[in-house]
Order: sequence, then C-alpha cells, then structure tokens
Amino acid sequence: MKVPILLPNIFNHPFTYNSDLKLKEGDYVVVPFGKSEHTGVVWNEFEKKTNKNFTIKKVLRKLDLPSLKKDTIKFLNWFSEYNMVPKGMALKLVLLSSNAVEEISGEVYEQFKIDIKQNKIELSKEQKNCLKKMNVSNQKFRVHVLQGTTGSGKTMVYFEALKEIISKGFQGLILLPEIGLTGQFQNKFIEFLGFKPAVWHSGITKKNKEIIWSGIANSKIKVVIGARSSLFLPFKKLGLIIVDEEHDQSYKQDEGVTYNARDMAISRASFENIPINLITAVPSIETYDNIKKGKYSLSKLDQRYLNASLPNYEIINLNNTKLEKQSWISKKIIEKVNCHLEKKDQVLFFLNRRGFSPYVLCKKCFNSYSCPNCSINLVYHKNKKILLCHYCGHKTLLNRDCSKEGKCDFIFSGPGVERISEEVKKIFPTKITTIFSSDTMNKKSSSEILEKIINNEIQILIGTQLISKGFHFPHLNCIVVVDIDLSSQGHDLRGAEKNLQLYHQLSGRAGRTGKPATVYFQTYNLNTKMIADITNKDPNVFLSNELEIRRENNLPPFQRFIALIITGSNERELEKIAYKFKNFIESAVEGKILGPVNAPLFRLKRKFRIRLLIRGRKSLEVQNSLTKIIEKFKFPSGMKLSVDVDPITFN
Ligand SMILES: [Zn+2]
Ligand SMILES: [Zn+2]
Repeated sequence: MKVPILLPNIFNHPFTYNSDLKLKEGDYVVVPFGKSEHTGVVWNEFEKKTNKNFTIKKVLRKLDLPSLKKDTIKFLNWFSEYNMVPKGMALKLVLLSSNAVEEISGEVYEQFKIDIKQNKIELSKEQKNCLKKMNVSNQKFRVHVLQGTTGSGKTMVYFEALKEIISKGFQGLILLPEIGLTGQFQNKFIEFLGFKPAVWHSGITKKNKEIIWSGIANSKIKVVIGARSSLFLPFKKLGLIIVDEEHDQSYKQDEGVTYNARDMAISRASFENIPINLITAVPSIETYDNIKKGKYSLSKLDQRYLNASLPNYEIINLNNTKLEKQSWISKKIIEKVNCHLEKKDQVLFFLNRRGFSPYVLCKKCFNSYSCPNCSINLVYHKNKKILLCHYCGHKTLLNRDCSKEGKCDFIFSGPGVERISEEVKKIFPTKITTIFSSDTMNKKSSSEILEKIINNEIQILIGTQLISKGFHFPHLNCIVVVDIDLSSQGHDLRGAEKNLQLYHQLSGRAGRTGKPATVYFQTYNLNTKMIADITNKDPNVFLSNELEIRRENNLPPFQRFIALIITGSNERELEKIAYKFKNFIESAVEGKILGPVNAPLFRLKRKFRIRLLIRGRKSLEVQNSLTKIIEKFKFPSGMKLSVDVDPITFN
C-alpha cells in the first residue's frame, strides 16, 4: 500500500512510501530519507502531480503512540497556507526536535494526577456572571472575550471554566505571553485547582519536554500552561483554549517560522471545534473589531479586588520644574515620592530602556559607539561594564583610542534604568532599591527578589516594561513614568496601541489592595493626545477612535499586510535583486506592492535589509498567489527572503 508521509523539513508536500503495515492518517512512522532515518506522520493527501521517477522506499516502522488527530492535521495544513510556511516546517512545530516520543509509562505522571479539591475561593457575583457567559459546557467552537480591569480576578473565572472541562475528561491549554510569569502563576493555579499543571516553554529540560509531550499525546496530562509553542502540542482530547493577555504582542513569533500564536490558537480551536477564551484588560484592535462585529462574544469584569479603584493620574510639567544637568527626576517628583514612602507605599520608577545610557560619544573625536553588525547604537551597561547591541548581542568594552590624542573621553547621553537607579540611590540613600529588567530578572535569584518586592522589603523599583507583565505587587502604590515623551516616538503602525496597552498594564500594577495609588507622568509635551488617551478610564474610547483611523487609511484589521524582507551582504546587489523581484511578482500577486525600501534597521547581524509590503484583501488568495510566484523566483546564493504575514513590527 502507498502512503503519503510528511517529514519535518522544508518541503511543502508529503513523500510517497510503501508499507505492509496497517497505517492510518496521523500515525507516526520512521522512514528512510536520503541516507538517514526520519520520523514522519501519515498525512491526509498525496503529493500533487509529481513526475519524479524513482523507487518508492518502504516505511521502516510505526511508532507506539496515539496518532495525530485529523483536525490537527487540517489545522497544520491551513497554518502552512496562511503563514506561507512549508507544511513540513509546520509539522516540525509539533514534533520534539523532529521526533515523536513513544509512550512513557510509570510514576512520572503521578505528579500531574488531577485531584480537584474543593477550594475556599468563592467567585463574586460578577465573576459568576462572566463564567455563565463563557458557557464552556457547550463544547462547540466560539470565541469569547473576558475583558476585565487589572486586578479584577479574571484568572479565577477561567480557572473555574477549566475545572468544568477537565472534570468531563478533556484537556485544557492556557497560553501565557511571558515565561517569567509561570512561577507566580503556577502557584495560583495549584491554590485554586489543587493539582499541578504541566508548564511548557523553551527553557525546560529535554527530559521534561519528552515527559510532557508524551503525557499530552496520551492524555495523561490534563492541563498545560505554556508559552506560544505549546499551541503545537499533540493534544489527544483538547477541550478548551485560554489565551491570557491576548493583546500582548509577544504572541507574535518574529524569527524563524513567523506566526501570531493568539490568531493561530483561534484557528486551532476552530478546526478542533472547541471553545476558546481571550482574556484581557484592554483588547487588541483586532479583537475589539471582532467584538464590535459580533463575531466574538464578550463579558466584562469591572470591579477590582477589594473594590480597589484604579490609580489616579498626575502630570508633572517639566517646563515648570527644571531638571538639573544629568538628572531625570524632578524636585516635584521627589516631594511626591517622599509622601508615598512615608506611607510605606512601594515606588516604581518606570523607564522602558535597559542599561545605563543608550548613546555613548567621545568628546574629543566625536565618534559614537555603534554596532559593527547593525545600524544601531550600542547601549552602555554599566553594571556589566560593557557596550551591548540589543539586536544582535554584540559586546565590546568601553575602551577606545582617538587617532593620536590617546584614550577617548566619553560622554553618556540619555538615561537607561541603571542610570535612573544611580540617581534614585543618591536622592533616597536610605532606601532599598532594585532594577527590574530582563537583565536582572532572568536569573535563578529572581524569585528571591520577587519575594522581597511582594513583602515590601524593597522600597523602590526601577523597571522596564517587563514589570507590566502581570506581576502582583501588593504594596506598589506609586508609579513615576520618568519620560513619557520617549515612548511616543517610533515608526510603528501600532505605536499608539502599544502605548495604550503598556501604560494600562503598568497602572494595573498599582493600588491592587485598596490603598489609593497614583501614576505620575513627567513630560515636556503637555499637548500629547497620548497622555489623555492612556489616562482615560475607558480604554474603549481610544480603541474606537483608533479603529476609525485604521478604517479610513485602509490599515489592518481592514486589510491584510504581508511583509517581505530580503537580506544579503552586498548592498548594491541586494537593491538590484529587490527591484527585479518586485517586477517578477507584481502582476501575479493579489494585492498592491509597496517598496522596495531600506528597512529602518537597514543593517542587522551583518546583513543589509530591504522591505516590501503587500497590501491586499483579507483572503487566503493573497497568500496563495504570493506563495506560487515566490517559488519560481531564484534568489542568488547568500540572499534570503523572509515572509511575515500580519507583521507587528516594521523594523
Ligand atoms: Zn548588533
Ligand atoms: Zn575619541
């Protein structure tokens, strides 16, 4: 019997094999390919019109594990078409380092055994109403959005929904944007549901991955809490997907196979015909649009825990209160912060910039430090005593000679969190402070720091946007946004939306236990619409305005964007090819092509980058027409095309 086998490689079609085994769609098999053996899956269709003429090889063996579900196969085929990714690469996302794990038996699964205990946490009336609206007992596909103010207990509502699903024997998946969250989150889960979920992200060990993968395939594990890649686990009986913080832009996978995990989760739920819940305080523009259109149902939680109110906002006009040289904290703020500290409030200075200074320049030769691989400045990290490229990781020491006059004499322009931290220590010398950024919080010791913050043993935090990601700090009642003007810059279609999300999440960190809280914005620019938008207690006002702007300008979600980025090391050659490529595809593409233009980040990791943007209808025809024509274009060696459907960043 002939069978189509898809392999986890760059091919967009299955290969045909012979087999005497009784094989069915979704079975995992081992086959010879080239000179080695590979794991593959019996696919649902044969390769189309092949005129290759060679001997068909034989399947070596069938692996001992439940087959991949037909619905999952359909989802992967669609995923491949939508994201313009070869089918083999889509399958690769499901497998574990291109392999499948045969059944693991024994005690390892004892730890995941479900034993739902009656908990003492009782849902409020408002929460119960939301749960009712979620209506998970109806096991058909639908998208429900639970929109709730930060600190209103959205998690408890979907935990309860999950409980219902697993007690019926289904599996559940909770997608989270930040892996850093899982520690605090896992405890919350255990407290509420009384058993341990499996936690899935890129940082877990290979052995653990194997255990979880097999446990999912065999339905021995009922709940997975995971980062975006957990969406591709081979669930045997998935019954509910939750996407927490659905607005979070880190759901977008930007490198390698690009996809938006939130959107793909919705699509997987649709193929599996199961319910999905999107959880957020402020929905993304796309989700808001779908709520408006009635495609998604909505429930809302307005009350915060302990009836805490959202923080107040205060704008500190920097034109009136002059800053000292090399200083970023105004006298006015110092007064305010002192009042908060006296009341035992924890204080956060927020600046979305890692390191000490983003720009280092020599006073004598005027040369700045920029990355040799990328067109971007190096950021000085004083704590590590290095200059660092935040894009490619290039490191160098702060040590350079001017041509003849000896050593360079450096000046540091602009602040990063490390610099603000120095200033804070000078102003509040008796207080304990800590920097909260990906440089300091990705270590083993970070859980210790977290604990200290929660217990108010640290009085002042200096943090980047990492702190906006769902942490619960009960004593944090004062947030100082050091420089709001900094974040209003940028060449990004989603700049405004990003800011709204960021500052809403940030204010959500304050005042969580009922004490009054305030967010202070330092600014030179008092006319910014942005401050008005983000301080509006009803985010929907901003969202409907923004949606209107998008409609008028034919931007997503009203049109589909596909970004094509061509990279190469020869600048001239790259430009020539980019124009040639555009001419080649232009008449065949169902859409308009903008560009080619040099990418804003023109040089990245030693390669030059040129962008094209396709604008088209929201239809798979756009992708299909592109896929077909791109296949026929041969890029010279050393040049590479990457495709990003529904791009979020335009670097
Ligand atoms: Zn670089
Ligand atoms: Zn110099």
